[in-house]
Amino acid sequence: MSIISVLNPKGGCGKTTISTNLARALHDRGHSVLIVDSDPQGSARDWHAASEDNPLELVALDRPNNVKTLRSMAANYDYVVIDGAAKLEDMIAAAIKVSDFILIPVQPSPYDIWAASDLVDFIKARQEVTDGVPLAGFIVSRVVEGTRLGGDVRAALDEYALPVFETTITQRQVYPQTASEGLTVFDADNAKAKAETTALLDEVLAMIA
Ligand code: ADP
Ligand code: MG
Repeated sequence: MSIISVLNPKGGCGKTTISTNLARALHDRGHSVLIVDSDPQGSARDWHAASEDNPLELVALDRPNNVKTLRSMAANYDYVVIDGAAKLEDMIAAAIKVSDFILIPVQPSPYDIWAASDLVDFIKARQEVTDGVPLAGFIVSRVVEGTRLGGDVRAALDEYALPVFETTITQRQVYPQTASEGLTVFDADNAKAKAETTALLDEVLAMIA
């Protein structure tokens, strides 16, 4: 069983969107997946409740102590995807400790990337005492279609010396549209959104292999 956390205290960077779509991509490959909503805002819970035939299982955990026991609690699943909380340091710290891999979504602006510095410090401090576990990498999210990442964005990311995924997630209406129905891009007719989400999954799996 592998635990993937999607973390960044900054709201709106795409944690819930990426968590739900990534979980569905894993499910469609035949893996058993549990989504953990660790955010008191409950966006993933709302998403899950919006569809009656959502094929994914979701549990909401509102205490860091419950996150700490995830590895035994969810031992029967192939993958756990934790949708990270905004702020709540204890929750984020618990998720970092229990995870095999941390995916950090950031919007393509230096301000947003700089704002991830406390999270990166937190992750690196943990890596130092545990032989590099959890691994972590950035996924640039909500990129305007047809634009290339600017040098300012690359330079800001490079300062962290963490992997940056080749794949980027584009700003597309299909993400909120499907989310509002409790669905994912795999339920929609949008080949580009499916392709980028699949490419993201491939990169995540390559990192934790
Ligand atoms: P977070 O969980 O980090 O707060 P969300 O996934 O909830 O971020 O995204 C914040 C808002 O932006 C939501 O309304 C969501 O539908 C929208 N959004 C997120 N990612 C995308 C995307 N790739 N394209 C279009 N809208 C997006
Ligand atoms: Mg969220």
